[in-house]
Amino acid sequence: MNSDLSRPEDLDTDVALPCPYCDTAVPLPDTGDQVLCPSCGRRFDIAIQQAYARGEDAFLSAADLVLRAAYRGDGRSVFRAKALPDSLPLPPDVIHAYQRAYSALRVALRGTLSDEQYLSANRMLAEITRLFAPRSIVSPLEAEYWARRAVEAIVQQELDRIRERLAVPPASPVFGHLQRLHLRLRGRRLSQTLAKLTRQLQELEDAIGFLDPPRPPSG
Ligand SMILES: [Zn+2]
Repeated sequence: MNSDLSRPEDLDTDVALPCPYCDTAVPLPDTGDQVLCPSCGRRFDIAIQQAYARGEDAFLSAADLVLRAAYRGDGRSVFRAKALPDSLPLPPDVIHAYQRAYSALRVALRGTLSDEQYLSANRMLAEITRLFAPRSIVSPLEAEYWARRAVEAIVQQELDRIRERLAVPPASPVFGHLQRLHLRLRGRRLSQTLAKLTRQLQELEDAIGFLDPPRPPSG
């Protein structure tokens, strides 16, 4: 998890929300679905940001419960805290917290999130469904889907960074030329990977029968 995404503990998300693009605390208006950040001038959807905040909070509290359960053990397990084996039942409070996170993140992904939030939401869903699938709470196909979505978001972000760098003229003609050649090659490979992932995701979406697939920020 990226700690930069965490909110200040005392920020009440019914009163103010951190701007997903610049992290400024933005007071919420009495009416309207969206709010304009006075600092960076970007608009964001209030319900989507609140859902994301709920999802992240629930995910972190579930992860915290797992960690505490592992530490409780017999005292000697403190230094070898492992994830619970897939065959063991998860404690009900952990399942409930992950279920709350799952529902809220699915809502959040119906709207537009920042790139960082989009990647983080997919990573959290990949982790939740990885734990849920062997316990028959979600299908293995769905766990596969979110894992690939998370990879897609990582690949997309690297591709965006490469495109940004290629849009700037090189500082030195010789070194700049080689570097740009390398970047173009890397960009081409990433584009191919992305195209393959998009096809696989489409197939998985059809197989799962998703009515509300997530919306990537650039889509
Ligand atoms: Zn802002």
